[in-house]
Amino acid sequence: MRRTRASRPGQEPKRSEADLASSDPAFVSRRRLLGGAATAALTLVGVGVAGCKKAPLVCDGLPGIAPADLQLRTTLEYKDTSLALDRLCVDCTLFVVAQAEDTCGTCKVVRGPINPKGTCKVFLRRQPGGPPT
Ligand code: SF4
Repeated sequence: MRRTRASRPGQEPKRSEADLASSDPAFVSRRRLLGGAATAALTLVGVGVAGCKKAPLVCDGLPGIAPADLQLRTTLEYKDTSLALDRLCVDCTLFVVAQAEDTCGTCKVVRGPINPKGTCKVFLRRQPGGPPT
């Protein structure tokens, strides 16, 4: 008679994972435990990345801007965000970069706060490699 490791006298017979799961309601397989841990880790990474995402800069708040300046802004069709990525204020020679990071800049023509990702009809491309003003 052939003897297997699990059938030696004094040893419990080897039981499959399915047998263990069906006989013990508290049984959690190693595979299932590791799968749950991996899912939890990925969820935490996702939450961490989402938490680091900055809110977009908005430079449309215009308290105290003179009506004439507001009119010029409208006439020149200033837009706070632009899909024309080749015409962004940040690349315009008239854009003045803000001193503080993540704040609105200004413009030598258009009054009021200017978003680096904005644009208007006057856009003048800064020379390649030229310093922002
Ligand atoms: S001129 Fe227009 S495109 Fe250039 S920085 Fe001023 S608002 Fe932006």
